[in-house]
Amino acid sequence: MAKERIKIKQPMKVRSILQKEINSICPFCDSTEVEYFEIHHIDEDPSNNEIENLLLICPTHHSKITKGDISKEIVERTKKSLPIKLQIEVASISIDHNNCSWVSYDDVKHAFYQRGNEPSPFPIICFSLINHSPKTILFTEIELKEQYRI
Ligand SMILES: [Zn+2]
Repeated sequence: MAKERIKIKQPMKVRSILQKEINSICPFCDSTEVEYFEIHHIDEDPSNNEIENLLLICPTHHSKITKGDISKEIVERTKKSLPIKLQIEVASISIDHNNCSWVSYDDVKHAFYQRGNEPSPFPIICFSLINHSPKTILFTEIELKEQYRI
């Protein structure tokens, strides 16, 4: 039985993620007329609106896929071959000034300095990040810029 089509939640946001994923170019041709691009459901289940199941493509290639001229395997392979672009938004970076001797500058975002040694001379930094991409995150390093001075 065919599954019901479910409207994509936050369609503009999903479309923007999908457009970034393909770098605004149809992955099957060179078309860049993204305003006409359509969202294809890779597993052909129109109720599965997970980003992993969606691919933004030009109308020509969308119809080729739905007609079966391009196989599902090729579509899946194409989706997997798209470069992984993580969209990480830094929501906030703060210092835990109750549990360490570090405090933030009043007028500079994300800059901290040591004030004394109590209760701990080591800065305790709190990060809040939002992963807007459907990909898993692996942190390998965090860059800290030393010696900020006003
Ligand atoms: Zn195309």
